[in-house]
This record gives sequence, C-alpha cells and structure tokens, in this order.
Amino acid sequence: MHRVTLGGFELSIFSDGTYPLDGGAFFGVVPKVMWSKRVTADDRNYVTAGLNSLLIRTGKETVLVETGMGNKLSERMIRFYGQPAKLLDNLAAGGVAPEDVDIVINSHLHFDHCGWNTVRDKNGKMVPTFPRAKYYAPEGEWQYARRPSERDAISYIPENYDPLVASGQMTLLKGGEEIVPGVSVETFPGHTAHMLGVIVNGRPGFERARLQAAPSAVTKESGALAPDCTTACYISDLIPTTAHIDLTWGMGFDLYPLDTIESKKRYYAQAIPEKWLTVFTHDPKTPWAYVERDEAGRMVVRGAQITG
Ligand SMILES: [Zn+2]
Repeated sequence: MHRVTLGGFELSIFSDGTYPLDGGAFFGVVPKVMWSKRVTADDRNYVTAGLNSLLIRTGKETVLVETGMGNKLSERMIRFYGQPAKLLDNLAAGGVAPEDVDIVINSHLHFDHCGWNTVRDKNGKMVPTFPRAKYYAPEGEWQYARRPSERDAISYIPENYDPLVASGQMTLLKGGEEIVPGVSVETFPGHTAHMLGVIVNGRPGFERARLQAAPSAVTKESGALAPDCTTACYISDLIPTTAHIDLTWGMGFDLYPLDTIESKKRYYAQAIPEKWLTVFTHDPKTPWAYVERDEAGRMVVRGAQITG
C-alpha cells in the first residue's frame, strides 16, 4: 500500500491492475536498444503498464484522480489489453466505498483513464460508479472525443463520460481551476491537446507541510525524504512512468510530441526546484517519486522515502 501524508492531506495510490502494452508504442521513437535497458519486454515485445489512481483525502473531501480501465471493454480490446478491473476491489480493501468518493477528476478521456467512471447496472443502463461524486474532465478533451481522429478514435469510449455530461454530473474544465482548496488542475499539452495535470498542495496556509508516512506505508522505496515537499502532481501521460522522465522519451501515442517536450520542460522547471512528488500513472512498480537532474544534467528518479 502506497500512502503518504502531505500537509493535512492523505494521499494513496489505488491500482486498477496492470496490462500489456507494445514496447514500441510505449516508447515512441526511442530505440529498443535504449528503452530495453530500463524495461523488460516479453517475447511478443509487450511491456507491463500499470493503472494508478490517486486518492486524496483532504479531511473534508475524498478526491479520486483517474478511474483506470474499468469493466466495459469490447471483446476486441480485451484481446489486446485484458481487462484487469481491480480498482473497486482495491479501493474496498483500503476502506473506500464508491459512495465515499466526493470528487472524481479525469486528466483526459482515453479509455484507460476514465473506465470506472460508469458501470452498467443490472438492466444494462449506464450509471455513475461513484454515485455521489462530482466528476470533472477537460472540456477541450471532451469536445475532441466527440470527433476524434482516425488515429486515436479507438481510445475513446463515450459511455465513460457522455452520460455524466448529459446528466450534469460531470463538469467540464478549461484548465487552471481549483477544484477544492489545495487541489487544482493545469493543462499540459502533448499526449492530447487538453490533458490536465492535477496539482495537490498539502493544505493552503499549512506551513512547510512534511511528507510523512502513515504506519502502514512502509515500502521498499529508498532515498532521502525531501523535508520541504509540499506539493504532489498527478502528471498523467505527460510522464507515464519513471522510464519516461527524459524530455525526449515520449510515448508513441502522443498526438503532439513536440508539445510533450515543452510541457515536460515547463513541469520540471517548477517540480524539480520545488521538490514536487510526481505521480506516475502507468508505472507498475513506482507510482510516485521525485524527479531530479544529476550533476551531468541527466534526469534521475529518487524514491519518496517513507519514514515512520
Ligand atoms: Zn494512459
């Protein structure tokens, strides 16, 4: 269980499971001789991708960032990806019932990020999985998802969001909004044009909030704790795993690869000096860590050490 406290907030990672992804697609133009030093592919060239959601308990609200792949994939997609569908079980094991979630935020609307937004009830009707929650997603992304390009049309499953928009349960965001005090969104173009990062500030006015562990959170992570870490960011598919931290290591799926590089620069310009904890949406092993630049200027990952 990955759990830390950030100021007055408790942050936990809940996974919807893992799925196989073509290594070439995952690393875009990066040659396999390079990426295979970081990630091992199987004999079909598949690597393992995670589906990490971030749960934020602010003390007032329970906020869920991203809802994984869900349980509504078509037969064809299940052949590619399987359908791990573990998020609700994992939340339940962590003491979180669907009714407990007050807010759901989707960074973008690809099927592997908003799959548990909705479920089919026993009559086949599409209903919100988190019945009390206010849902949020980027407006430009939703507009695009209504008429996606041939290239990424397969990534959009309207049942994940259209019923929520139609019922008024999903609010569409411009980017830059504060959803609740301490949880805000910012647009980082590249993977898609309107993808959001979700920025979590321990608590406004909370002085020098410290990253500490709940007793249950002792993990294998190593490295020194950044005592002045007050901010975490769910940067989504801008930096999907710890293997993608270099500026030019974008995914083949990115619609605007040059924007990915610019957005990463903008992110690091703030996240590195301010020691933000970066959450990695698709990393099956390291859901969060600090990204730093070493003496040679290379990007490196340092574990978020958990001290009790
Ligand atoms: Zn993704």
